[in-house]
Amino acid sequence: MNAAYFSANYRQARQRFVEAAVAAGMTVQTHAHPLPGAEGEALAMDVARGGGFDAPALLIVSSGCHGVEGYAGSAVQNAVLADAALLGAAQAAGVALLFIHALNPHGYSHDRRVTHEGVDLNRNWVDFTRPLPANPGYDALAPLLLPEHWPPGPEVQAGLMAYAQAHGPRALQQAISGGQYRHPQGLFYGGTAPTWSHLTLRRVLRQHGRGCRRLGWIDLHTGLGPSGHGERILAARPDPDTVQRARAWWGADGGSVTALHDGSSSSAELEGMMWQAAYDECPQAEFTGIALEYGTLPLEATVGALRADHWYAAHPEAPADGRAQARQAMRDAFYVATPAWQQQVLDQGLAAVRLGVAGLSGA
Ligand SMILES: [Zn+2]
Repeated sequence: MNAAYFSANYRQARQRFVEAAVAAGMTVQTHAHPLPGAEGEALAMDVARGGGFDAPALLIVSSGCHGVEGYAGSAVQNAVLADAALLGAAQAAGVALLFIHALNPHGYSHDRRVTHEGVDLNRNWVDFTRPLPANPGYDALAPLLLPEHWPPGPEVQAGLMAYAQAHGPRALQQAISGGQYRHPQGLFYGGTAPTWSHLTLRRVLRQHGRGCRRLGWIDLHTGLGPSGHGERILAARPDPDTVQRARAWWGADGGSVTALHDGSSSSAELEGMMWQAAYDECPQAEFTGIALEYGTLPLEATVGALRADHWYAAHPEAPADGRAQARQAMRDAFYVATPAWQQQVLDQGLAAVRLGVAGLSGA
């Protein structure tokens, strides 16, 4: 039964999401993407809302910010949409629900983490009218991360090891994943302008998030931390009231909320995070948000998959079999298709949504 919430590809995920939303009595709003998908299918950011525009509180549940991570996020959305008791509890508590499916549908369809612009959507929310953030660590590592030839030779791996030994593994993770704005073909690239997903999400938030007094957001991710564990990472301004509120809501079941600013998260500190959009577009609301980040494979494996993915994207002349292997490695790095992992994802996703509803209702 639970396996049915997980889809084999973007096209199936989209179809299931639309069916689940309609079955829950919601209408689906489609924001069409300008490009076709990997199989020629139509791409879109689809939005379904449960609850009126006069609801005092709104909880966003979003998937696919990082494309390929949408396999898990989409399944959680389906499970919530199928949970009549949870939907009923939200309605009774005055909490409207907003499901945003495939924030980055192009990445999802192509099993990539970045958007069609080559941009990490969760590094794309900086002020582009000002000088962009520097990342000298990434500048130093760039030729090693994406060397001339693939797979990389032993001297390339030795260079990365030397950086880790000189600065520590945490500094290596920070340099690679913190976000960079100088290497358009590189990893964790934040771009030079708002992406299609960025602009579209702003429109969705303007339409749906301007009427509520309290706004919550659970943004579903994969690829960091122990396999199957859903880390609740603060995805909001780390001011004391917001931190306290997030920890009260999502710690109510004995769980914990980690944060980037105090080093308690398995994530590095990041530039240009997407939650900025909630403050920009819904300034009237008290905002509380988390990323729910499910572990998959060890960090070295996910970074290895990302390097190959970016290398092949930058080398259209490279052989097709290597490219297909790299795509499969991306899927495997961000989606563990075993029943045990899937069950962990659903259980923790549903729990986070229940806690979010309870927090927003003031219960
Ligand atoms: Zn992610």
